[in-house]
Amino acid sequence: MEAGRRDLREVRGSFAAALAATGTGAALVSWAFRQEPDPDRCNGCGLCAKVCPCSNIEVAGGRARIRERGRCAHCMACVHFCPRQAMTIRGRRVRPELQYHHPGVTAADLFA
Ligand code: SF4
Ligand code: SF4
Repeated sequence: MEAGRRDLREVRGSFAAALAATGTGAALVSWAFRQEPDPDRCNGCGLCAKVCPCSNIEVAGGRARIRERGRCAHCMACVHFCPRQAMTIRGRRVRPELQYHHPGVTAADLFA
């Protein structure tokens, strides 16, 4: 890739990280990457609740539920480990081929 273009991406990434560290930026990130369980797809398996590092997901009545918006770290573990692609980002489902986690890390490693 052309050096100038890569540099611009790094600047944009740094700016986004700095913005996210502010109150307004955090609110924007929280809005843009809001996790929402899809009740029609969720089967209440509870895997998302187990991998969430913030204990921010509970399963009740056979469905996942986000506890508090402000507690979410937006790590996306719930999105990428859900076996039914039921954890959406602002209602948008992540396709299975786009779910990613480190190949050497399993869900069990996160809650062992
Ligand atoms: S991992 Fe997916 S299917 Fe399982 S409880 Fe969470 S949202 Fe529902
Ligand atoms: S994005 Fe991360 S911190 Fe937020 S609810 Fe999902 S697993 Fe928990």
